Amino acid sequence: MTKNKTNTDLELHDDSPYEVNIDFDDASRCWRENKKHVGNGQFQYICGATKTNGKICIRGRKMGFTRCAGHCNGERMDSDWLRIKGR
Ligand SMILES: [Zn+2]
Repeated sequence: MTKNKTNTDLELHDDSPYEVNIDFDDASRCWRENKKHVGNGQFQYICGATKTNGKICIRGRKMGFTRCAGHCNGERMDSDWLRIKGR
């Protein structure tokens, strides 16, 4: 089994429809809330699940899902504005 390299395999579209015609300051903050900067201006979605110690899980999401592999409940992403790079 190969390791899931979500850090490098996920890339955000620059022309995301979520960044058009919105209050940028507020939206930017909200937009970053569930993501982490992984370098090169790229962001990766974080899991965001609340762990047993009360902290937010910042592990990368399982590809195509809304949670990391550890918290995945089968809920899939419903947007396609994350592009998965072919390797
Ligand atoms: Zn998690």
